[in-house]
Amino acid sequence: MSANIDEILAAARRHAEEAIAPEVDSWNERRAWPRAASDKAAALGLTGLYAPEEWGGQGLPLAEGIRVYEELGRGDGAYAFALSMHNICTFAACGYGSDAFKQAWARDLTAGRKLANFALTEPQSGSDPSNMRSRATIDGDGTWTINGAKAWVSLAGEADVYFTVVKTTDQPGHKDMAMIAIPRDAEGLSFGPLYDTPSYRFLPMAEMYMDNVTVSEDNIILPPGQGLQGSLMAIDIARVSIASGCCGLMQAALDAALSYAKNRKMFGGVNLDLDGIQWMLGEVATELEASRLLYRRAAEALGTPEGPLMAAHAKRFVPDCALKAANTCTQVLGGMGLLQPYGLDRLSRLAQMLRIVDGTTEISRVVIGRALQKRAATLPDLPVPKGYGES
Ligand SMILES: Cc1cc2nc3c(=O)[nH]c(=O)nc-3n(C[C@H](O)[C@H](O)[C@H](O)COP(=O)(O)OP(=O)(O)OC[C@H]3O[C@@H](n4cnc5c(N)ncnc54)[C@H](O)[C@@H]3O)c2cc1C
Repeated sequence: MSANIDEILAAARRHAEEAIAPEVDSWNERRAWPRAASDKAAALGLTGLYAPEEWGGQGLPLAEGIRVYEELGRGDGAYAFALSMHNICTFAACGYGSDAFKQAWARDLTAGRKLANFALTEPQSGSDPSNMRSRATIDGDGTWTINGAKAWVSLAGEADVYFTVVKTTDQPGHKDMAMIAIPRDAEGLSFGPLYDTPSYRFLPMAEMYMDNVTVSEDNIILPPGQGLQGSLMAIDIARVSIASGCCGLMQAALDAALSYAKNRKMFGGVNLDLDGIQWMLGEVATELEASRLLYRRAAEALGTPEGPLMAAHAKRFVPDCALKAANTCTQVLGGMGLLQPYGLDRLSRLAQMLRIVDGTTEISRVVIGRALQKRAATLPDLPVPKGYGES
């Protein structure tokens, strides 16, 4: 029997209210991952959401577990994002890992004693993973030796294991890609300087270098030929998780604006009495409701043929709404909206970050555009006047 989703959501909400929201500014000042907070999240069951109970997980279906990030996103979207990536790696480990890997790692991952992240992006291959260069040599003695560099690795140096996508031949393209789990303490693994971000500074991000890193074949999560396809499935889950976190962000922005506007005196009343302000916030409220419906519908579609398209719709639409919501709510506070204690400027920067990570808004448009082309091919032809059908 899986965990009770209502209890998990309530625990995630309390975690956001008590452990994230009041602390996030100090985390950013310290510029260090708040391991004490993620340990608390682990104790609440938030680090093994989709993993089966036999490995210590909560056994939640994706469509239910993904709602946790909406709760966490009310506290902070970057924190929600990092935990979502850990949960996806943990799910992959329990679903596709070898018995030896599961014995060594699964319980520590579901219990959050160890954290995991995903390393796909490289300096020359972000939106275009077919340009990947990291290369594993299959040694023939039960080990793989890996060389290359990854970029934008979140939880860099903090995660205990990195689910890394590599090529296994010199052939161009993605057909030889595999995913292998590289422990942080593997000899030859190192990290570059932390990226200097304007906000979400507590999330360590850096390049990751693999210099003759040798790992047992037990650590293969996806064998050659399945690396990119499997990563894209993981990214679909990540895209919907981001949309879920963005709904929490929108709720936080809206609540901050309402809490201020109901008290700000002007023109003989308060700011929230003004029609213009109500219309601005009303638009945010409508887009929040639409975003919630969309990400929950996309979460239900994961694992079905519709999953990638629905994930693209959610990732295309919701972070854009979140950015608009954060900017609108900042505007409602006037000058005060720019000041740090109100947190709205932080939300704008986070929303922009969430438009980029795990496939940009434009890449989602590419996915949607291809689906539209497929649909067009099934539709009857409308006559194209003479001259319009010639090139
Ligand atoms: C905060 C953060 C955390 C991250 N964490 C991780 C992580 O843990 N692991 C990991 O592997 N990666 C991670 N990433 C990387 C992230 O997934 C990439 O940044 C993203 O895929 C975009 O790649 P890029 O930055 O190289 O942009 P580029 O690929 O260089 O794109 C540049 C611009 O071109 C646009 N573009 C690209 N293709 C098209 C097209 N066909 N049509 C129109 N426009 C297009 C893009 O939308 C973008 O606007 C992280 C990124 C961020 C910002």
